[in-house]
Amino acid sequence: MDLITRGNNVIMETYKRFPLVFDKGQGCVLTDINGKEYLDFMGGIAVNALGYAHPGLMDAMKTQMEKLVHVSNLYWTEPGIELAELLTKESGLDKVFFCNSGAEACEAALKLCRIYGKLKKHQNAVEIIAMDQSFHGRTYGAISATGQKKYQANLEPLLPEIYHVPFNDIEALKAQINPNICGIILEPIQGEGGIHPADPEYLKAVRKICDQENIVLIFDEVQTGIGRSGKLFAYQQYGVVPDVVTMAKGLGGGVPIGGIIAKNHVAEVFTPGTHAATFGGNPFVCATGKYVIETLTAPGFFESVAEKGAYLKSQLEALKKEHPSIKDVRGMGLMIGAEVDGDLGVIVAKAMDKGLLVITAGSNAIRFVPPLIITKEQIDQAVQIFSECL
Ligand SMILES: *Cc1c(COP(=O)(O)O)cnc(C)c1O
Repeated sequence: MDLITRGNNVIMETYKRFPLVFDKGQGCVLTDINGKEYLDFMGGIAVNALGYAHPGLMDAMKTQMEKLVHVSNLYWTEPGIELAELLTKESGLDKVFFCNSGAEACEAALKLCRIYGKLKKHQNAVEIIAMDQSFHGRTYGAISATGQKKYQANLEPLLPEIYHVPFNDIEALKAQINPNICGIILEPIQGEGGIHPADPEYLKAVRKICDQENIVLIFDEVQTGIGRSGKLFAYQQYGVVPDVVTMAKGLGGGVPIGGIIAKNHVAEVFTPGTHAATFGGNPFVCATGKYVIETLTAPGFFESVAEKGAYLKSQLEALKKEHPSIKDVRGMGLMIGAEVDGDLGVIVAKAMDKGLLVITAGSNAIRFVPPLIITKEQIDQAVQIFSECL
């Protein structure tokens, strides 16, 4: 029996998978079990920041693996402390909580802002505002905050007291503000919703409202964070600092790690027993994450991401002039969406056939989120293949 049939026999069908079985990867190229190579512009959905089989990353993993993979969070280990030191220093925020995924990071942030509301505002300060077209993950809290009905089908009743407003619409947000709001959660660049960046003025105005009303501002940077935007966090591009930032995808370079970083006045409402994660921040994933962050924050790395991202965007904009089916090119750094008028599934399948991996975002965009180590030559190759698929 072939592998895909065997897979379908035993693995739940929560994903509509492509009929591709990957065997190995090197740099930004993946190889399937038939030996066919693919240039990877989806990077495990913005996860594989350093590509595949990165020598330094593998060394960091091997070294830590041989020493210690897991002990309980009832004890201290050095890699977690070191990674948290790096993250707080680079983010300008104060305290880290480690977990294992993006949904869990959002879950931690939502719990944190509700506890904050109860303890630092009043007993009824439990309401949370989230954005239409947002995506925060699949756990019950995160899916309740997610602003896309298709992900919530048959899951009701959802977590109560979460209200959605249109993204980038400050008047709509203001209309929803009342003394019972404890938190606002948004993605600085909506990812799954179709690569929609926030307007800088909007984020500044949201920050001001949160300051005036003592509301916890949460930026979900699970996709935009860890260098994707050309800075460690996208908020550093905007110059607007949240009270809590979530992270996951790129942080472990492929191993499952997530977390939040919060300002002290918010972080302090988590006390022993309020929240936990058995695997969260174990020495193996933290040593791996530490290597990722050290590599990204080395001199010149973010500049190269910004430069390559601008190049990719300009090449797609040039393509837009030739192809009227491209309606818009959006995004920042190496998180770019091309809005295409056409059958996105057909485009993705054609690209795959020609050896290029891309995915969709929202209902109308093709998403380009390659490993951050992608080269200009590979960008040229990808844009060429994409052009042939239109
Ligand atoms: C992917 C994503 C999540 C969910 O992450 P998981 O690791 O799949 O739970 C949450 N928020 C944003 C913005 C994401 O892009």
